[in-house]
Amino acid sequence: MSVGEIKPELIHPKNADEWKSLTFLVAGAAGLVPSHVAEFYLEKGCTVIGLDNFITGSKYNLEKLEKFSNFKFYECNIYDSIPTEVREANINFVLSLASPASPLDFKTIPMEIMRVNSEGTLALLDLAREKKARFLEASTSEVYGDPEIHPQVETYNGNVNPVGPRSCYDESKRYAEALTMTYRGLHNVDTRIIRIFNTYGPGNRPNDGRVIPNFLNQAIAGDDLTVYGDGSQTRSFCYVTDLVRALDMVLFSNDPTPYNIGNPDEYTILDAAKFVIEALGSTSKITFKPLPHDDPKMRRPDITKLRKLGPFEPEVSFKEGIKKTAEFFMHLKENQ
Ligand code: NAD
Ligand code: UDP
Repeated sequence: MSVGEIKPELIHPKNADEWKSLTFLVAGAAGLVPSHVAEFYLEKGCTVIGLDNFITGSKYNLEKLEKFSNFKFYECNIYDSIPTEVREANINFVLSLASPASPLDFKTIPMEIMRVNSEGTLALLDLAREKKARFLEASTSEVYGDPEIHPQVETYNGNVNPVGPRSCYDESKRYAEALTMTYRGLHNVDTRIIRIFNTYGPGNRPNDGRVIPNFLNQAIAGDDLTVYGDGSQTRSFCYVTDLVRALDMVLFSNDPTPYNIGNPDEYTILDAAKFVIEALGSTSKITFKPLPHDDPKMRRPDITKLRKLGPFEPEVSFKEGIKKTAEFFMHLKENQ
């Protein structure tokens, strides 16, 4: 059956024993999204093997995972060497979630980003093939670049600048998608692709550089919130546990074509700044800084395709998500 002829369905394990029999390899386990994905499957009784080289991940994201006896962790660079113990393990799902994702990282570690999304993705595809495991690639809304259609649907092929300051990330993610589909065709590996839209939550690095960690840490410190440009550009922010539920739906679907996942509630950046100040009762003001080159003007996921797999509603409001993430940052500060 060709990709276009698939009738999308969601096929989850039938009971607790079936869940418990599953092993997930989570690449990037010390990162924001991957650590919550690992926690989600550990709570279902599955075994999780985490890999990370800590280039943007943090040990504190592993603490909650290390409480589970069925969690194993290996420090490694996925495009350099995956440990023999991992190669010898029984693995049912390989989740390719290891990549720096902040525009700040695009300036400081562009080669590491390009290598992990190309060589790293290939290494994980090879592992999935060896293990006869299902493979999931975490792609991004960045594949749409500075989009000319709004909201973004999966059939839109994007408007990406191949030589711009974001290209190390968006072009390498486009390559990772192409590699996934090509490898699937050649080697019959069962693959899934998700395109994640701006996701935040406890586990973000305080100095990550992305807008929510920046605004929260500025508001907590009573510093000015830095809005780039006039703040009229938009983003749609998803709380991390909502994102994980959407990832799980795509992973357990039968459809290898790309799925947008995220929260379609859209904010201008200026409104997001005002929202953060109000939600935290902060005394901070707003200051304006230059808009980075190629900064996308708008971004909002069309998640109609996801909702055809099953019901999906984000459960955590922006206000609640902001508060929970701020609590996390305050806790980190107190324990430094
Ligand atoms: P993150 O930086 O918190 O997590 C990425 C993790 O991967 C980090 O722990 C990092 O140390 C690890 N890593 C990076 N390169 C590695 C390597 N070569 N070997 C081993 N480990 C490595 O970022 P995140 O926001 O949680 O993103 C996770 C995934 O989701 C990434 O693939 C990212 O591109 C994708 N994504 C995230 C967002 C978002 O808004 N958070 C949006 C789109 C896509
Ligand atoms: N941004 C901002 N102030 C900051 C950090 C980011 O105004 O301190 C803006 C940035 O220019 C972009 C939006 O917020 O328009 C989202 O930026 P982020 O780095 O979180 O991710 P992006 O969606 O651009 O990848």
